[in-house]
Amino acid sequence: MAATAFTPSFCGIAKTSTTTAAATLNPPTNRFLPKTPVRHLSSAFSSSSPLFSHHIATKLRSFKGCGKPVRGVASMAKKSVGDLSGADLKGKKVFVRADLNVPLDDNQSITDDTRIRAAIPTIKHLIANGAKVLLSSHLGRPKGVTPKYSLAPLVPRLSELLGIQVVKADDCIGPEVEKLVASLPEGGVLLLENVRFYKEEEKNEPEFAKKLASLADLYVNDAFGTAHRAHASTEGVTKFLKPSVAGFLLQKELDYLVGAVSNPKRPFAAIVGGSKVSSKIGVIESLLEKCDILLLGGGMIFTFYKAQGLSVGSSLVEEDKLELATSLLEKAKAKGVSILLPTDVIIADKFAPDANSKIVPASAIPDGWMGLDIGPDSVKTFNDALETTKTVIWNGPMGVFEFEKFAAGTESVAKKLAELSGKGVTTIIGGGDSVAAVEKVGVADVMSHISTGGGASLELLEGKELPGVLALDEAVPVPV
Ligand code: AMP
Repeated sequence: MAATAFTPSFCGIAKTSTTTAAATLNPPTNRFLPKTPVRHLSSAFSSSSPLFSHHIATKLRSFKGCGKPVRGVASMAKKSVGDLSGADLKGKKVFVRADLNVPLDDNQSITDDTRIRAAIPTIKHLIANGAKVLLSSHLGRPKGVTPKYSLAPLVPRLSELLGIQVVKADDCIGPEVEKLVASLPEGGVLLLENVRFYKEEEKNEPEFAKKLASLADLYVNDAFGTAHRAHASTEGVTKFLKPSVAGFLLQKELDYLVGAVSNPKRPFAAIVGGSKVSSKIGVIESLLEKCDILLLGGGMIFTFYKAQGLSVGSSLVEEDKLELATSLLEKAKAKGVSILLPTDVIIADKFAPDANSKIVPASAIPDGWMGLDIGPDSVKTFNDALETTKTVIWNGPMGVFEFEKFAAGTESVAKKLAELSGKGVTTIIGGGDSVAAVEKVGVADVMSHISTGGGASLELLEGKELPGVLALDEAVPVPV
């Protein structure tokens, strides 16, 4: 098998690569697409054997420049906080729903401030335009008022990052909060107490939403991580506040997870891994509609192998999903999408970090052994395939990357995507364990986009519309 060897040249990629990739995000429209007819790579081989990915590497090398017609454009184009002018914001009370659900240790110290940092650009923009910011979030899963889930520990870090003293309210509605709002200066920030201290929040009770909304003049939703839930502070309030717009973070998630995925620079590859095919059916089916190449890894591959009559030893298999696996392969073939299944795997004699391991072809897993990672040949083949792409989305690890011995496949994908980011490929990390993997490898900063939402990003990738996004005002169409 001819394959491009992996080179660790990604190490020195400058952070500006993120900007480069982002800047080239929007243009692809029909008129930019090459006129070259689409080449259906998978028609050259049979999908009945997992070994077919051996045959694809050479074909992929000549794939550059091919494109499929755009099938659909992002349907969730929403008005953004950036669309509001200084006059729209000056002196206005803005209810900002952010996701400040950060982890706290036993001493109430923040152990990871990523979510706070992600909320800062929108808040800074509002402050700079003279708005009065009423900042709302949930933290944890409180049952009623629970002091350990107070947002108070967030005040010092928020104040430090914003460069102003943030005021904290002891409630999120009521007369005391109203007084604090009345005394808030232009450019000031009032942090409301955990909105989930009220059970009405998750029940999306209109009366509660109305009380929250009565504090403000307009609404900004920047809480992507909870946008798939119709709660009072994410959906209910929009019925009472106009305009209701997307914050910068939410906007970026939509730009990439909807915009770049629906209207990608091609070739477009999707990498899907993780433990079970059942939890990724929606994502695979939706991406099959859009991508040119689908690379599969993780525990789910053994269901595909078994469906093709291979022995998989004691690997993870979903017996009730064998037919589904076959139908997904058939669907891919019918759509002209190339599916790559790993050709070799790293097997273990038990599910443990210190298990004995060896590399075997995917068709030769002995009884009593289980596949816990993709093998080196597969890494090479995947890298060759990825080398041809202009857009890549990744969701789910290639193996049990929590165990060092079985982390190589997942880490190789992270490194390859970092390398491609440096070459202007749009690289999107679609939430969950893939985010943990790129962070572990230390390449998170170079990716075009790292999604901040687990459940929300999965739902977007499945093609679902999120209630917290649907409720926002439509973007005003720009004539082209
Ligand atoms: P998911 O939440 O579906 O994306 O799955 C992530 C989990 O899949 C991680 O905890 C991995 O350890 C697990 N995983 C990946 N590959 C395998 C495998 N070959 N066998 C069992 N579990 C796996």
